[in-house]
Amino acid sequence: MKLEGQCLCGKVHVTIPKIAEEITVCHCHMCQKFFGGPFMSLAGVLPEKFTISGEEQIQRFMSSEWAERGSCKKCGSSLFYHSLADNEYYFPAGLFDELDQAKLTEEIFYDQKPAFFHYKEATEKLTEEDFLQKLFTDS
Ligand SMILES: [Zn+2]
Ligand SMILES: [Zn+2]
Repeated sequence: MKLEGQCLCGKVHVTIPKIAEEITVCHCHMCQKFFGGPFMSLAGVLPEKFTISGEEQIQRFMSSEWAERGSCKKCGSSLFYHSLADNEYYFPAGLFDELDQAKLTEEIFYDQKPAFFHYKEATEKLTEEDFLQKLFTDS
């Protein structure tokens, strides 16, 4: 489906013409800091598969050697996780309003999830070790 989203102040707009309505949650410590909780992420998209307006409003932070994270300079909204190796952008579900039909399918870095909550959805749960192993097996 087509998704259109924006940050809290409305200066940064994201349009994704076509994307699967599947959500992966990342529980890693860095995502918890950056997003203020678990990162409910859409599938990764390459830059030619979406448009983002308000580039001058975007602050980019290198959170590791392999990824940067974007946020709005004005309102501070978290905008994306950008994986540098494959150039894919992962947008948080919260930017978009049209995700009523979306399904939560996977939780990664499950071993870093805080103990005080659990999702009731039946998801595939991967620890950091499982996830890294899957990455290497897939490629
Ligand atoms: Zn903003
Ligand atoms: Zn994470």
